[in-house]
Amino acid sequence: MTVSELSELILGRIRDIPDYPQPGILFKDITPLLADAEAFKAVVDELALVHAAGADKIVGIEARGFILAAPVAYRAGAGFVPMRKKGKLPAETLEETYDLEYGSATIEMHRDALSPGDRVLIVDDVLATGGTARAAVELVRRAGAEVAGISVLMELSFLSGRDRLDGVEPRALVTV
Ligand code: AMP
Repeated sequence: MTVSELSELILGRIRDIPDYPQPGILFKDITPLLADAEAFKAVVDELALVHAAGADKIVGIEARGFILAAPVAYRAGAGFVPMRKKGKLPAETLEETYDLEYGSATIEMHRDALSPGDRVLIVDDVLATGGTARAAVELVRRAGAEVAGISVLMELSFLSGRDRLDGVEPRALVTV
């Protein structure tokens, strides 16, 4: 499948939900894509075999990032590490607070989830303002690991999230 065939496949299966979860937000719903076997496989393969090349660990951001990052880790032969909302992880954590397109949040990662020198790909569904991805970069670096990349299904370029990622160039399968 070519890059443009893949982006057409993805664009046709992400649904816009106006005013969710708040008035003024155009929510990008990826559930139609996940329910389509061909599209889901194509996305996981592209992320695992191209974006994750050379990565030791794949970090998934709660909650929709988990759905992509876990099969990407499996397919790439890498480990999976969850970054979760505050209070959900049972062992000792590192935490980072950041602003969202809607509200603010704290994410955590287990303190021992990454080893110094690990090459880490961060995966999420949507890059919006970049606050979440930036916090994920901070947590990976504070663990002594190296950010090999940030990959998302969809980048909302009008929110300029890529300019807030502290020198990391994100890769998006589609950009709107
Ligand atoms: P941000 O930190 O602003 O880049 O927001 C990214 C996070 O919020 C991701 O985990 C997304 O799942 C979610 N998100 C933000 N804006 C949207 C949107 N318009 N549609 C779907 N998810 C979004």
